[in-house]
Amino acid sequence: STVPRIVILGAGYGGVLTALRLQKELNYNEANVTLVNKHDYHYITTHLHMPAAGTDDPENARVSISKLIDEFKIDFVKSTVVQIKPQERKVILEDGTLSYDYLVIGLGGESETFGIPGLQEYALNIRSINSVRLIREHIEYQFAKFKREPERKDYLTFVVGGAGFTGIEFIGELADRIPKLCKEFDVDPSLVKIYNIEAAPTALPGFDPELVEYAMQVLTNKGVTFKIATAIKECTPDGVVLADGETIRSSTVVWTGGIRGNRLVEQAGFEAMRGRVKVDEFLRTTQFENVYIIGDCSLIINDQGRPYPPTAQIAMQQGVTCAYNLVASIRNQPLREFKFDNKGVVASLGKGEAIGIVFGKKLKGGMAALMKKLIDLRYLYIIGGIPLVLRKGKF
Ligand code: FAD
Repeated sequence: STVPRIVILGAGYGGVLTALRLQKELNYNEANVTLVNKHDYHYITTHLHMPAAGTDDPENARVSISKLIDEFKIDFVKSTVVQIKPQERKVILEDGTLSYDYLVIGLGGESETFGIPGLQEYALNIRSINSVRLIREHIEYQFAKFKREPERKDYLTFVVGGAGFTGIEFIGELADRIPKLCKEFDVDPSLVKIYNIEAAPTALPGFDPELVEYAMQVLTNKGVTFKIATAIKECTPDGVVLADGETIRSSTVVWTGGIRGNRLVEQAGFEAMRGRVKVDEFLRTTQFENVYIIGDCSLIINDQGRPYPPTAQIAMQQGVTCAYNLVASIRNQPLREFKFDNKGVVASLGKGEAIGIVFGKKLKGGMAALMKKLIDLRYLYIIGGIPLVLRKGKF
């Protein structure tokens, strides 16, 4: 009999955890594992708000894949997936084709614009190392341009669409960065405006109201203007038009208001809601037993009948179960059900400030910020052990 081929698409939180677990559990020659990713590095998405605002270096938000996996055990292919063909058990890459017996799809999320005109064209997104490099340079460039055209106050107006976790974390960093940019470029800080616009009736919808209140207070004190329960109707090259008729002139709009699964998943014919596929209790698609979907491309319904929000935490846990089930399948052993163990969430609000619920306990301020650091370090430890903690960890 031939050795089964496992192909993992995407080296994000889900894909990396799957690969690391397979590398540990599989015996010699029990399976051929191939990991495919667009870049030769893994990015620490949960850290991207910092390099996006320029409060940290993008280098600290990425790890070379060759440093994470054992290339004697796992073949790494740096390539872009262009099509998934589950009927033929094939994946089409930009520069080749892979056949598989088992497929793991961990291609992550994409920005969802809900059809709001202009967002796709004119807004920036916090999604990858490349996209945060662009945001960081763009912000600095606005300051430089303002010095040449001082009548253009819109260069100093920054709009963040969406007050979910990403929007809140980014705006916290941005508010920390602005005073430094003002100094660097000799700009009067009172000329800078930062807006956070959210369509839902509250910031951080679904989160503890007392902590939301605290977060908004911290950010307001740092100079952020919130417009809650206000939808963005349109984004233009000159700014945003709001549902209440107001126009905010701005040359920087960062959209964090929506997330969807990777379009390749829909294009492959899987039944999806905004690119997210409802998987069975073992994380397999209902159409193909040999196809697992994890992370932001998957949809798991909680006990209240609502989908869990896509997070790094759930993607990692799915990776662990997915690897277990792949090994079990190969060995003809029973599969294990996936159960999400929610350890909590922490959102940073800039330097030294955060809010969170950890193991059911509410945290805010310095304690929450410390917790955020510990979560980041724990992640580095899980994927790369002590050496990675020492290389990329921020203490
Ligand atoms: P990802 O981690 O997104 O990885 C997908 C991988 O697939 C990437 O490496 C990508 O390059 C690759 N890829 C995509 N398309 C292709 C293709 N066509 N071909 C080849 N490769 C491809 N979650 C938390 O739990 N806690 C947090 O504090 C938190 N903070 C966040 C802050 C920000 C700014 C953002 C944007 C997200 C945050 N999240 C957080 C959410 C979390 O990052 C995601 O839920 C998580 O990354 C999903 O993991 P994944 O494995 O599905 O995909």
